[in-house]
Amino acid sequence: MLFTSTQRIEEGFRVLTLQYPLSEDAKEFIEEYRVIASHLYWCKRLGLEPAKKVVERLWQKVPSYWRWHLVDLKDPMYLFKGVEKSLVPYRTILRLPLVDALHERKGAYIKDGKLVLRLSKKLELEIHERALKWLEKRLAEKPDKKYVRVFERGNKLIVQIVLHKINRVEIPRNPLLVVIDVNSSYGIAVHFWDKKLIKTIKFRPPNRGNRWSHVRELMSNRDLLYDQGCLTQRQINVYSSLIRLTLKGSAKGWVQQAVEKIVKRVKRMAKRHGKEPMVLIDKPDYSSLHGTPLQRTLYSFIKYLENQLSWYGVYWEENRLYSTMCPLCGGKLVLDEKTRRARIMKCTNCGFKEDRDNIPLYWAIKHLPALKGEASIC
Ligand SMILES: [Zn+2]
Repeated sequence: MLFTSTQRIEEGFRVLTLQYPLSEDAKEFIEEYRVIASHLYWCKRLGLEPAKKVVERLWQKVPSYWRWHLVDLKDPMYLFKGVEKSLVPYRTILRLPLVDALHERKGAYIKDGKLVLRLSKKLELEIHERALKWLEKRLAEKPDKKYVRVFERGNKLIVQIVLHKINRVEIPRNPLLVVIDVNSSYGIAVHFWDKKLIKTIKFRPPNRGNRWSHVRELMSNRDLLYDQGCLTQRQINVYSSLIRLTLKGSAKGWVQQAVEKIVKRVKRMAKRHGKEPMVLIDKPDYSSLHGTPLQRTLYSFIKYLENQLSWYGVYWEENRLYSTMCPLCGGKLVLDEKTRRARIMKCTNCGFKEDRDNIPLYWAIKHLPALKGEASIC
């Protein structure tokens, strides 16, 4: 491959996680595999020869599909790349997954809408309709690699279908600028810029405070009904799951939904304007949010967004886009006026005035000529 300085390789992953009840057979097989795999891991790590018995057992008990990523250094899915040098053992050491390509001649494949796993026995597993549709769409986007990870978690059989796409991405010469400001007072603001500001959309992360009050309500209802003898144990369990679901997952769900919407919008908007999108992501300074759930949500938002942009081969960059530094003179911006809709900032040096949410956009546009200059070199 020939490269110019404006090109880079971006890798994006899409993962479908499926969960099934764990049969005795599958459980036994996974446990057996884990013991063998950990032995090989530690031998590799400590520079020892694996025990002959263990290697024999690997050949005896583990079908070839699931074997190569443990022993073949050249296997693209080889699990122990560089473990001798890594300082801390993987946290997943006893949870080493079975890995194989997703292919009819391999350990796992999809046939007639069912997932077929060749473990110690052949397992045929249902994939629910929504997951199947999602998978069909992703496969139509032509991933470069498709593989499967199988492991056990919480006495469930977990199967992950991992799709991997490798794109050669170039800085757009005539870009539609998309600025994603993760620091905005609102949560996340997405600005679209084509010589002028075309559109701004905003996303607000779910409020954990609200959720807590919802949980408190569920708990008090449950206790009240229980005291009155109206609930069976099974119904109590339903309440517990509701509480768990209310507290869990929803931040993750929010991140996924927000990212899907943004990426769709970016592609559609660029198409409509006949341009290539160029996404600038504010690299935020989270000192004020350190250790809070919101920080985790925003970090995972950025990670998820960058992964999905890479999957579609959209050019993106992280840039520090300030909202309290003047984009004209570098002076300090202070709050000048606060309305219900906006916080207007004013430069203490030159008098520049703007809505706080729009200031990162000015910084992004400042970055633009430099990027264009770089692109024109080749
Ligand atoms: Zn200024």
